[in-house]
Amino acid sequence: MRNFSKSKLLAFRQCPKRLWLEIHRPDLRIDTAATQASFQIGHQVGDIAQRIYDPAGLGALIDVQTEGFSRAFERTTELLGTMLPIFEAGFVAGGALAFADVMLPDQVDGKQVWRMVEVKSSTSVKDYHRDDVAVQVFIAQSAGVPLQSVALAYIDNFWTYPGNDDYSGLLVEADLTAEAFSRTEEVKAWITLAQLTSASPAEPAIETGAHCDVPYACGFYDYCSRDEPKAQYPVYWLPYIGAKAQELAAQGVIDLADVPDDLLNPKQMRVKTHTLANTVFFDAVGAAADLAVHSLPAYFLDFETIQFAVPIWQGTRPYQQNTFQFSLHTLSEAGQLEHTEFLDLSGGDPSEPFAQALIAVCGQSGPVYVYNAAFETSRMSELATRYPHLSAALLAINARVVDLLPIARDRYYHPSQQGSWSIKKVLPAVVPELRYDALDGVQDGGGAMEAFLEAIHPDTQAERKSQIEQQLLAYCKLDTYAMVRLWQVFAGRTELKL
Ligand code: SF4
Repeated sequence: MRNFSKSKLLAFRQCPKRLWLEIHRPDLRIDTAATQASFQIGHQVGDIAQRIYDPAGLGALIDVQTEGFSRAFERTTELLGTMLPIFEAGFVAGGALAFADVMLPDQVDGKQVWRMVEVKSSTSVKDYHRDDVAVQVFIAQSAGVPLQSVALAYIDNFWTYPGNDDYSGLLVEADLTAEAFSRTEEVKAWITLAQLTSASPAEPAIETGAHCDVPYACGFYDYCSRDEPKAQYPVYWLPYIGAKAQELAAQGVIDLADVPDDLLNPKQMRVKTHTLANTVFFDAVGAAADLAVHSLPAYFLDFETIQFAVPIWQGTRPYQQNTFQFSLHTLSEAGQLEHTEFLDLSGGDPSEPFAQALIAVCGQSGPVYVYNAAFETSRMSELATRYPHLSAALLAINARVVDLLPIARDRYYHPSQQGSWSIKKVLPAVVPELRYDALDGVQDGGGAMEAFLEAIHPDTQAERKSQIEQQLLAYCKLDTYAMVRLWQVFAGRTELKL
């Protein structure tokens, strides 16, 4: 009988086939960049948790990578005889093995007991965390550990980092003792079934479905779906199709061509019609009328932001969107286009200089065009709250914001958009000579975040930092120039040389 790791048991909980493939065909697994990023965030939060739970630094860390499994289990047994906090304590028993994030010693009636804490980088307790903790508790108890309690620690995203390396308020705990202690038989059953699944020479016959993404995107999806019929025009291209796509798939309808018209609203119908006919929808009169109410000068604005699970700047919260860059194109009454920008790669908190620079270049009147206004307006409102002395000016800019996205949604559709009105899809359709994929390095918001992190890292050489700076500036500039050109086409102002 093999000992399953906790992650294998949780893979089994998601899908028995996933467990089988992880054991027999791990080579088929493809982890997305998002999966890799979530591992990294988990490590960061884990490191901070050690400082929170062991501020004096007296505890012991077990590193299975360097010590190996046998030594890690042995050393855990040794450390359980001390009164020191243990991080990554390893247990093997009952057909499974696991490493506990935090073990804290305690005494009850003169007897030594342990408090276990599982640390997660999420901002709430999820159902799969409850399974995770139940497995962890079962293994530790089966290994003979006198567990007194178990808690799940997760990130409090309402907490504000006070600075000076004080992360004591970053995590909040949910006590799961009663629940986890009562699930022993359930976990035993999972282990028995997982053993049967893994021992089977044949791959389980399980089709893809909603479970492939819950709780995690499964890395075997490409493999499992390889023989499934592929739609030429997938149903999920329909805007706001939501759960209806799954209902249709259950009936064998995966292609737009097969979706009955009477199930579709007018916007979905437009996507279906123009996709199948390969024609462009453009309500030029309506778009021009939408924009005619706004005069020149006009401003075209876009922000780039960065989020940290563990805030690095005083006064910021976990997962807060911190603005570090903007691009602004200004179109004068005479039709002259100018560009200004802001980018802070110093590594310091860019928020206040960002807000000040923004106020300095946005003028006093005229529409401020953005694409998907909720993002920019939310950031400006947050900055206004954080910097009361800049609040009036920031809120005044917010009041001038005009969103180009709903105009694009209502007035334009090109089959190449594949059901999306993101600016990355709309721009190449409306202005084919402008393309994000022609940019060097940074080509999307995720790339901008990665580039920013690399640029502010102390080990990044000046030459590389300068290269990243140019890439970020070019990327954000294209975002606002794209808006200018969209505005021009939608407003019918093709006489302007932009
Ligand atoms: S892709 Fe879906 S069906 Fe295939 S192993 Fe993963 S969860 Fe199971």
